Amino acid sequence: RVRVRFAPSPTGPLHIGGVRTALFNYLFAKKHGGDFILRIEDTDQNRYVEGAEQYIIDALNWCGLTFDEGPGLQGNYGPYRQSERKHLYKEYAETLIAKGKAYYAFDTSESLDVHRKGHEAEGKTFIYNWHNRLKLDNSLSLSPEEVKNRLESGEAYVVRFLTPPDVKLHLKDLIRGTIEIDTNTLDDKVLFKSDGMPTYHLANIVDDHLMEITHVIRGEEWLPSLALHQQLYDAFGWKAPEFAHLPLIMKPVGKGKLSKRDGEKLGFPVFPLSWNESEGYKEAGYFPEAVVNFLALLGWNPGTEQEIFSLQELIDTFSIERVNKSGARFDPDKTKWYNQQYLQTKDDKELAGLYAEILKSKSIAVDDQAKDYIEKVVSLIKERAVFVSDFWDLSDYFFEAPTSYNEKAAKKQWKADTPDILNRLVSVLEGIEEFSSAHVETTVKAWIGKEELSFGKVMPPLRLVIVGDMKGPHLFDIMAMIGKTDSIARIQKAMT
Ligand code: GLU
Repeated sequence: RVRVRFAPSPTGPLHIGGVRTALFNYLFAKKHGGDFILRIEDTDQNRYVEGAEQYIIDALNWCGLTFDEGPGLQGNYGPYRQSERKHLYKEYAETLIAKGKAYYAFDTSESLDVHRKGHEAEGKTFIYNWHNRLKLDNSLSLSPEEVKNRLESGEAYVVRFLTPPDVKLHLKDLIRGTIEIDTNTLDDKVLFKSDGMPTYHLANIVDDHLMEITHVIRGEEWLPSLALHQQLYDAFGWKAPEFAHLPLIMKPVGKGKLSKRDGEKLGFPVFPLSWNESEGYKEAGYFPEAVVNFLALLGWNPGTEQEIFSLQELIDTFSIERVNKSGARFDPDKTKWYNQQYLQTKDDKELAGLYAEILKSKSIAVDDQAKDYIEKVVSLIKERAVFVSDFWDLSDYFFEAPTSYNEKAAKKQWKADTPDILNRLVSVLEGIEEFSSAHVETTVKAWIGKEELSFGKVMPPLRLVIVGDMKGPHLFDIMAMIGKTDSIARIQKAMT
C-alpha cells in the first residue's frame, strides 16, 4: 500500500511551495489508493512558532487536501507530532553507535570555531569528516574509558553519523534518475543532541521507517540530504522508500527561488491563508480550486493542452514521471486567470451569496426579494470579474444611481441637443407599460427611427446617465433591471 507523508516544520506559515509539496503527495497517494499522512516535525524547539501547526492544518483543509492520518486524527502509526515521539529516537542513535555507524562527539562550538578559523586562514573549508575527525574531540579519537567517563560526568555531546570514506553512492530519484555522490565530499552530520532531541535527519528517517512510508515526495532543497538519508537506511538495515524531489518554484522575474519578498514587491500572495500582515490567497479572494489547479501545474504537466482540472481530474491524471526537473516559474497573472475561469463555472446563486456580504457592508439592503435581483446582476457582469470583490466596481450602478459621471465621456457625448432629446425620451419611457428589456428596446428603437435621430445621439448619453460611465452590459438589460421609475429618475437627475 502506498503511504506518503507531508512533513512540515511548524516554523511559520506554509509558503505556497509547501502547499504544492502537500498537493503532489496527496495526488500521488489518492492516485494509488494509498494514505496521505501529516507529520509535524517539531524537534527544533528554537524555531518553533506558536500557531504554525494549526495554520498548516487550516491551509490543507481550505485546499481540500484531507489527510488520512495526522495530529488530532486516529491512526495506527501515531503520535504524528515528533515532539510527542521524542522518547523514541535515543535508542536508534544508540543502535547506530553500537553498530559502529555513528559516534559521540564532545567538541564545543568554541572549539569548532577555532578549527573553522584555522582552516579559513589557510584558505580551506573545515568539514567535520574523514579528513578531520581523528583530530577532533570524539569517541573515535578518545579511549573507550575516556568516552565513558565523559558521558557519565554529564558532559554535553552530540551523536554524529560516521560517513565511510571512498564510497561512490548511487542515489535514485524518481524525477532525476540516478545521482552519483562521492562520500568523501560529505560531512558527519549530527543525528542526536545531548538535550535528548534528535536532529531532523534522524527523526525523519526513523519516522518514515516506523510509519511505513513508501514514497518521500519533497522539495528540491532536500536533495543534498538524500545521501545521508540513504546511508542511514543502509546503516539501520532498513529498506529505503522511493524518493522524488520536486523542482523549485522560481521568481516571476529574474533568477532564484520565489520568496515572500517577491510577493510583497509585485503584489501577490505567497501564503494560502493570511499570516500577520501578509494577505493569503483566501483573503485575496481566490477560490481554493483555482489555487490547487495552478499549483498542480507548477512543475507538473499533463502532457496535453488541458489547463483546467478538478481535484479528481488531477488525481486521475497525475504521475510523478511527468514532474519536471527544472524550476517552475511562478506567474501571478496566470493565477488570476485561473481564478477568473473558476469564477465563471460557479453557480450564480453561490456567487450572489458571496456578493450579498459585500453589499451588506455597503449598507445595501439584502432581503429575500433582493436575492433574485443580485443573482441576475451577477449573471450579467461575472464574465468580466476575476474576483467576487470586483463585482461592486462592475455593478454598483445596479444598486445606486451614479453620483458622478465619467468626465471624458461626458465631454464627448453630451451635446447641445442632448437635454432636449433625453427629455423627449422620458415621455416615451413613461408610456411603456411592460418595462422589459426587449420591450424597452423595440420601443426606443422605433422612436429613434420615427424621430429620425441617430443611435449615437441617444444611446451613449443614455448609458452615461444610467451607469455614470460607458461601461456595462446591454443597456436595455440594465434599464429593465433597475426599472422604469429609477431609469427615468436617473435621466432627470442628470439634467438638473
Ligand atoms: N521537516 C522538513 C520540512 O520542513 C521535511 C522534509 C522532508 O520531507 O523530508 O520541509
